[in-house]
Amino acid sequence: MKLYTNYLTENDCYKANKKITPTGIMVHSTATPGVMAKDWFNLWNRSYEKGETDREVCVHAFLDDKEVWQYLPWDHRGWHGGGPVNNTHISFEICEPSGFTYIGNEMVGYVPSQHEEYFRKVWENSVELCVYFCKLYGLTEKDIITHCEGYEMSIASNHMDVMHWFPKHGESMDSFRVAVGKALTII
Ligand SMILES: [Zn+2]
Repeated sequence: MKLYTNYLTENDCYKANKKITPTGIMVHSTATPGVMAKDWFNLWNRSYEKGETDREVCVHAFLDDKEVWQYLPWDHRGWHGGGPVNNTHISFEICEPSGFTYIGNEMVGYVPSQHEEYFRKVWENSVELCVYFCKLYGLTEKDIITHCEGYEMSIASNHMDVMHWFPKHGESMDSFRVAVGKALTII
């Protein structure tokens, strides 16, 4: 896992400079086909207050099939979950591959077999990043949730990620947690 760091210093979330003690990890995916981890820096290194962007969002990291980009210090309070989860969880976005579109929350024209190789790489990188966070903050796989689970727990906004995507590859958040748990015992 190649990890690069480049803080979003122009983002209002970075400037707010609130600190948290991470007690969990929230997994997101971008719902934006083909925009890779490094590309998000220019899109999000902007200020809502200055009118440079229409979204007040900020996440700790993005990852794709090749690399991880850290955009906030891990103990910085992110603006990723639209609820109290921001006070407790480190967050990262999994970038989605190109070659399909969205209608509402639905992936349209997504052919899992064509994207299996990409999916397996981001899956591995996501497991590895979660293992890294678990070791850093004394967490386990049980402390990992995704956005839609956060909504069910009433600590995050109503988004489908990542369960609109993982099942297309025969996976779920439960199988993801199992994979992290296994990696934690090996490493
Ligand atoms: Zn999300």
